[in-house]
Amino acid sequence: MTVRRHDEECAEMLAIITARGITDQRVISAMRAVPRHAFVPEAFVGRAYDDTALPIGDGQTISQPYTVAFMTQALGVKEGDKVLEIGTGSGYQAAVLATMGVRVFSIERNHGLLTRARKVLDQQRLRVATRVGDGTVGWNEHAPYNGIIVTAAAPDIPEPLLKQLADGGHLVIPVGEMEMQSIVICTRRGDDYLKREEHGFKFVPLIGKIGWSGKTN
Ligand code: SAH
Repeated sequence: MTVRRHDEECAEMLAIITARGITDQRVISAMRAVPRHAFVPEAFVGRAYDDTALPIGDGQTISQPYTVAFMTQALGVKEGDKVLEIGTGSGYQAAVLATMGVRVFSIERNHGLLTRARKVLDQQRLRVATRVGDGTVGWNEHAPYNGIIVTAAAPDIPEPLLKQLADGGHLVIPVGEMEMQSIVICTRRGDDYLKREEHGFKFVPLIGKIGWSGKTN
């Protein structure tokens, strides 16, 4: 498929996202710049710019473009800010943030997925710090973060993530049942945390010490 074809498909994808209410131009520009087709498996390249989640192997998915845009906009971060991502997956969300000039720290529990994501991020010359591990306990070494984004669904907000959030920062996390979740946007004001919720999202489960048990996965 030609670059031109991908550009056209990407423009259509961005038109859909904009129509659904995404207004942050920095998010839209970054999503225009990142070649989403490089982050999906070969078999799905033809659908890379559809506004849907797609399988990336091991039962995991690359999030729907609208969801990526919504969460990135909700993070409200700017160039030079530090962001912690839980669930690197394909690396696409991390790539969008890195393209915005954000310093990204991303944790993935699945070794194979992270190896693939790293390869694509390196090919795209995007600087993202990654590590294999359980993200429910955060990454204390680099805290505090101006934003924390969790791209898998949690039964509850993991306490360590609240602690690792900088004052004024936002934690964006899907919380709810296995089948359906709300995205919770939690803003830190000193020792207070203000929350707002957006309903109707579906993510793969966050599996870990403070997440769902991995027994069925
Ligand atoms: N941000 C990704 C979305 C990947 S789906 C993207 O842009 O493609 C969510 C990912 O979270 C999966 O890859 C899954 O393996 C990972 N995950 C689930 N529980 C986790 C945990 N406790 N710590 C780190 N990663 C986790």
